[in-house]
Amino acid sequence: MILLDKAKNNTVVSADNLTKQYNSLTAVNNISFQIKRGERFGFLGPNGAGKTTTIKMLYGMSPLTAGTLEVIGLDVLTQVREIKKRIGVVPQETNLDTELSVIDNLLVYANYFGIPRNIARKRAEELLDFIHLEKRADTMVDALSGGMKRRLLLARALINNPELLILDEPTTGLDPQARHLIWDRLISLREQGVTVVITTHYMDEASTLCDLLVIMDEGKIIAEGSPAELIARYISQEALEIRVIPDQIQKAIDILSPKSESYEAQDETLLFFAPSADKLLKIAEEAKLKIEYMLVRRATLEDVFLKLTGRRLRD
Ligand code: ADP
Repeated sequence: MILLDKAKNNTVVSADNLTKQYNSLTAVNNISFQIKRGERFGFLGPNGAGKTTTIKMLYGMSPLTAGTLEVIGLDVLTQVREIKKRIGVVPQETNLDTELSVIDNLLVYANYFGIPRNIARKRAEELLDFIHLEKRADTMVDALSGGMKRRLLLARALINNPELLILDEPTTGLDPQARHLIWDRLISLREQGVTVVITTHYMDEASTLCDLLVIMDEGKIIAEGSPAELIARYISQEALEIRVIPDQIQKAIDILSPKSESYEAQDETLLFFAPSADKLLKIAEEAKLKIEYMLVRRATLEDVFLKLTGRRLRD
């Protein structure tokens, strides 16, 4: 019994048969998942997969059509106010108050949570340090760059010391420096034990940030695991990318695909996945394939994603 209680306490989000319908459109179609305390959990998927809708249900912005959803042990249908006090949300849109300074954006938010002014100021200053905006405390939000605004949104989401932080596409549209700074801060939060949930369509972001991922497509979860598990399960550890002269394409497939765990034709380029791409290359050379281009590399989450969700454009 005690063990069972412990297991339950360790679960921060529990979704069972979660469904969201917008009129006749099923945006989220009967999905179940669990997120454990301290985990960094990602929802990955092409546009329109249902990622944002799923996490909007998590933070009480979108009512469920069917299923059950518990967040930090509370029911989103009946205890949403309590949930909101204990979580932080970085939405996709930059909804800062542009008429206020950087620090006042944080203080106003602290006020919503009933945090006493002196404690709020200290916490706001610490958070500005945390996101490297300490020199901008009195700058008006309008004067900030896109990256600075995203960082401020992150600080705002942390003002109430949340147990669970939810971020919807935290780095979309940012330059590499700004993205890396956000990633670094999110990694540091993980070290502090905060549970982090993100949506993203950036594979490198998912690989870097997430311990566990679900890949969604058309409202369904189509795969679940750590980045390394997904790569091992759906393709293989390494990839050989190869381009041969056109009349040898079929020969290359005939020779290499039986030696591969998975293969794919990408226009003129053939992709073969195996534990050792060097071995495949050797086989190609021994068969005297006329190679125009080749690359031996590690397989990536992007390879898994394209294999599972296809190459069809989604919008
Ligand atoms: P993602 O975040 O994976 O891009 P979304 O959850 O935003 O996907 O959208 C899933 C589907 O639901 C899409 O087809 C989208 O057009 C639709 N959708 C999202 N929000 C609404 C809404 N408020 N009203 C009607 N349809 C919506």
